[in-house]
Amino acid sequence: MKYILIRDDDANFFTRPEMLEEVYGFIFENNIPINFAIIPAVNGAAKTESLYFGAGSPEPFLPAGIADEDKQFPITGNPDLLQFLNSLKRKEFLLHGLEHAGKSGKYEFESEDKNVIEDKLVKGVNIFEKAFGAAPETFVAPQDKYSKAALTLIKSRFKTLSLGWVDSSRIPFGLYCRYLQMKLTGRNYICDGKFLITEHPGCMFSKFMDINEMSRILDEYIAAHQITVIVAHHWEFFENGILNRDLINAFRRKITGLMNECEFLTFSELRGKLFNF
Ligand SMILES: [Zn+2]
Repeated sequence: MKYILIRDDDANFFTRPEMLEEVYGFIFENNIPINFAIIPAVNGAAKTESLYFGAGSPEPFLPAGIADEDKQFPITGNPDLLQFLNSLKRKEFLLHGLEHAGKSGKYEFESEDKNVIEDKLVKGVNIFEKAFGAAPETFVAPQDKYSKAALTLIKSRFKTLSLGWVDSSRIPFGLYCRYLQMKLTGRNYICDGKFLITEHPGCMFSKFMDINEMSRILDEYIAAHQITVIVAHHWEFFENGILNRDLINAFRRKITGLMNECEFLTFSELRGKLFNF
């Protein structure tokens, strides 16, 4: 059986529940589990280095009026969003950094300073617990970038790290053997004891991708792996507030097409399948 995990990134203080409903309503109706990577205290001055949006430009998930305000906005300040998310039947929440904002040209979790990373994790988990009533078990690094120090701390606090790909230059020496095993077996995940690191094929549902090409790449990836994490950004389905019909239809087609042949999971359910606990 193939396992599929749908992961939405970047839900934060400014996210409107209606946007999530428009994009993922069919997933909720079909009782398909979904994993939300939550930014606990997004910074209004968070920047992206993506060339698609223009390096150094405000993160596209921030509202135009707020961008550049160097201030944290805890998700606990948006009770409508929390009520919506917490009322969903089959969902799991993952920790997506603290404020999704880097410093000095580095992304948020690229710092090698253990104290800086520890402080971000403690604050992020604290807000997360207030919002969702339980501590997160899976971590998603903003922009998929992390330092060795961050990886060591994430491993000590979380059960899973969901990544784009494992960068061999950023893993501690102790994980290198597992990394080689993953490469040799053609897998896309590492089990280190009961710590799981998963890779994904990139964000396919983007206006910058050709829909047919994206569909072909995703089909090939699913055929080649037991586990596929499908990453989507709810905000990418909108252009100036208007839903991108072609993109959402492609997403719906792909997910509903996989319903008969794959099992959809949360990250904790995946750990249950792999580790049997
Ligand atoms: Zn993100």
